[in-house]
Amino acid sequence: MRLEVLGCSGGIGRGLRTTSLAIDDDILIDCGTGIGDLPVERLREIRRVFLTHAHLDHVAGLPLLADTVFDTLKSRPLAVHCEDHTHQVLREHIFNWRIWPDFFVLPRGQEPALHHVPFHPGDVWEDGERRVEAIRMEHTVPAMGYFISNGRSAIAFTGDTTRTERFWQVLNARPRLDVLIIECAFGNEDIEVCRLAKHYCPTILAEELERLEHDPLICITHLKPGCEQAIFEQVERAIGGRRLLRLRGGEHFDL
Ligand SMILES: [Zn+2]
Ligand SMILES: [Zn+2]
Repeated sequence: MRLEVLGCSGGIGRGLRTTSLAIDDDILIDCGTGIGDLPVERLREIRRVFLTHAHLDHVAGLPLLADTVFDTLKSRPLAVHCEDHTHQVLREHIFNWRIWPDFFVLPRGQEPALHHVPFHPGDVWEDGERRVEAIRMEHTVPAMGYFISNGRSAIAFTGDTTRTERFWQVLNARPRLDVLIIECAFGNEDIEVCRLAKHYCPTILAEELERLEHDPLICITHLKPGCEQAIFEQVERAIGGRRLLRLRGGEHFDL
């Protein structure tokens, strides 16, 4: 199993792409602007997308992906795994025929390009050894993180979140955790924004990580564009004794 970071920035700018992770050739976790760098042949191989939540930086690529590949999907629609709430928001505010055509109906009602698979906290998708489990996170809208494993190794991804009890309980109950991809959207100077927008800053992140009993490689994502190094240095100062990596697009993990 291979996990490739297509995008993991908190915003845009040259060389920066928003959140999207590829698992092998056929799965995406979130569908931010990061998918725009994949060649069309790779886009056509995507069979399912797991969304963390409905915010634009995590779904911006989905309408354009559907439009790009719909003619090759035929009777095999692209499965969009997400909460009912997230699906509703996508239909109401993006695939509403005004912002974008409804690819949950197009190109033909019986054979739409996109197919919603209701997926909620605690739900698990399995395919052979590959396993994706949804975990409730704490954000301004219903949001999930994912625990991704293949029987030998495991990666956890928070998506967007602030303080959470449940996530750490789930991770600590699993036998291993090799990589933790975790957000830290803002620096400590923006702690008030973090509280309102429900993200992490280095101080909150450090407190949260004290609950984690595993010792994974900790990959910091969703950093505010232009402030990446400054925020990461705050993270390094706040968190001692952990293996830390400032995650960048193009990074990959072979599990
Ligand atoms: Zn968000
Ligand atoms: Zn986000």
